[in-house]
Amino acid sequence: MVLTVYAFTCGWLTLPTALLLEGETGKTTVPVPAYLIDHPSGCAVFDSGLHVETQTDAERRLGRLAPYHEVHFSAGEEIGARLRSLGRAPERVDLVINSHLHFDHCGGNQQLPNATLLIQRREWDAAHDADQIEAVYYDPADYDHGHRVRTIDGEHDVFGDGSVVCLPTPGHTPGHQSLRVRVGGADVVLAADACYLRRTLDELHLPTVVYDREQMLASLRRLRALRDGGSVIVAGHDPETWKTVAQAPQPLGFPN
Ligand SMILES: [Zn+2]
Repeated sequence: MVLTVYAFTCGWLTLPTALLLEGETGKTTVPVPAYLIDHPSGCAVFDSGLHVETQTDAERRLGRLAPYHEVHFSAGEEIGARLRSLGRAPERVDLVINSHLHFDHCGGNQQLPNATLLIQRREWDAAHDADQIEAVYYDPADYDHGHRVRTIDGEHDVFGDGSVVCLPTPGHTPGHQSLRVRVGGADVVLAADACYLRRTLDELHLPTVVYDREQMLASLRRLRALRDGGSVIVAGHDPETWKTVAQAPQPLGFPN
């Protein structure tokens, strides 16, 4: 089994640092990552970044979140273009696995029209509940595009060989999941918003806005245990870590 993973930067966001680390001041500019996972049985995208319309009309697209985010997102950085730059047709992506349904993680789903959406059932249900849409900052315009949807409950082995596994890491949102991929002899956990920054994990320092603090702390402890066991944890929006991550067309890889 040969698995190849490619990392893309699908834009950047500048936001108050307190939104990443409670109590901090100033602003931080963070990457918006997306990944292509090439498996002999199929090809998957893990998180799809921002909706392409965010390039031209961020204010409308982000709605009530617009005042907190300055968007740096140019033509050619959207997931469809990133895939095409690798010679891959977005229409041929089999699976889109979303960590969760916030605008900067699933906004590109619309560019993957034939993919099946793989998501934790709790996340999908929350994102279709009027109260939760309001409270957890979902926007159905990011994810309701008529995709085939496969909901899962808990840990899920995507291709049945242990190479790509969804790990529930709730707390940031009700059904957040991280993705463990086995590349270059290493277990790499793409933590997404279960862990915004390396400091989130090192210091168990939560952001200001959290769906469930206890759940998020439990998820961070789980990620720490994986790190202690030798896994590489890739924080979801860490600008420093991101500099060290090989980007497409180079495959993702870490020293053994
Ligand atoms: Zn989020």
